[in-house]
Amino acid sequence: MKNVEEVVEKFQEQRYKITPQRREVFSILVNNENHPKAEEIYTELEARMPDVSLATVYNTLNILEELGMIDAVSIVGDDAVHYDPNTEPHDHLYCICCHRIVDIIRDRHDSNFYEKELLGFRIIKRHITYYGYCPDCQEGLEII
Ligand SMILES: [Zn+2]
Ligand SMILES: [Zn+2]
Repeated sequence: MKNVEEVVEKFQEQRYKITPQRREVFSILVNNENHPKAEEIYTELEARMPDVSLATVYNTLNILEELGMIDAVSIVGDDAVHYDPNTEPHDHLYCICCHRIVDIIRDRHDSNFYEKELLGFRIIKRHITYYGYCPDCQEGLEII
């Protein structure tokens, strides 16, 4: 998901309606590296334009996911689904203390970067998450 216009075009190609609310959801997601939950997108949207519903957010996210413009990211131990506008294969770091998710972007020319086949499986998707404590949360934690 590179910019709002790219998403608008794709929606129109598929004959999905473009509303000001949907456009605003796109702009919240473009270049967003925070992996927001639907509720967080809704809170931000509501601050920009009152009179929106959470259903609109879910509905827009579902279409974006269906069109392959965002990825849904699940974290073990965290019930909420997080949304990622970066659909290039990449791994995540997850802080079990403050729940932030950070992208790990590796060199694409590294041959191990994205296996197409493993033990006879044809790989179509990869989500690797490392769990730990972020630098901020390590401060004051003596157990580490
Ligand atoms: Zn943390
Ligand atoms: Zn990510």
